[in-house]
Amino acid sequence: MLARKTALVTGSTSGIGLGIAKALARQGADIVLNGFGDVEAAKAEVQALGVKVAYHGADMSKPAEIEDLMAFAASTFGRVDVLVNNAGIQHVAKVENFPVERWDAIIAINLSSAFHTTRLALPAMRQANWGRIINIASVHGLVGSAEKSAYVAAKHGIVGLTKVTALETATTGVTCNAICPGWVLTPLVQKQVDARAAALGVSNEEATRLLLGEKEPSMQFTTPDELGELAVFLCGPASGNVRGVAWNMDGGWAAQ
Ligand code: NAD
Repeated sequence: MLARKTALVTGSTSGIGLGIAKALARQGADIVLNGFGDVEAAKAEVQALGVKVAYHGADMSKPAEIEDLMAFAASTFGRVDVLVNNAGIQHVAKVENFPVERWDAIIAINLSSAFHTTRLALPAMRQANWGRIINIASVHGLVGSAEKSAYVAAKHGIVGLTKVTALETATTGVTCNAICPGWVLTPLVQKQVDARAAALGVSNEEATRLLLGEKEPSMQFTTPDELGELAVFLCGPASGNVRGVAWNMDGGWAAQ
């Protein structure tokens, strides 16, 4: 379905981003990976699916590096057809104790980076009259949780950016939508499980059960593969008039 198309997935060396990159690669898209950590392992996993893979190590908190990433993606594969804004970080603390530097980093990586990639990707998408922009928000783009001020603010912000981008492209073949996962067991969430286990003196298993039980009625994690399949749907022909939605896949979290 996505043969001869290029997908750029930010923060795709791990977790949800890597799951989405693999799902799009299975549909034939060439992939531009981005993110830190074990780059070679991520590249190998995507390459094994038989598509072309490039990597750019832009720090998504830095607009100049994002400009470089977008120029690299365009010059490597011609154009970015599918843009998945996924890079994100978390920090947990009460508002009055929230480190200012963490606030700035979360807003830059989880929100402003999507503004920069979107503004830079749109001209070529408009020219081709086809494009898909998928913002990985969170159930925290729809509801709040204590001690996550920067994250919740950034995720509500990216849902807003999604709506405006969708409105501005509404009469074109470019769509913009957000995906709002509940808990997904990635390194980002494992850190929160570890912190809970340490704070309560309980096992990893018990901390996981408590974490799910607090928010997610299904008592199950959503998986990167499931989110990848939703991204595939949003790239497909049946979704051409799905515009500006914030689609939760959250085990019932936001239904409460
Ligand atoms: P993760 O930690 O597994 O992956 C984050 C990715 O972002 C990694 O590839 C990392 O290298 C990259 N990254 C971090 N800082 C970066 C920077 N400055 N520049 C470039 N890349 C950077 O986390 P994840 O859980 O897969 O999260 C991916 C996205 O999904 C995030 O936006 C997160 O907010 C969102 N999300 C996660 C969950 C969850 O439960 N895990 C739920 C809802 C939303």
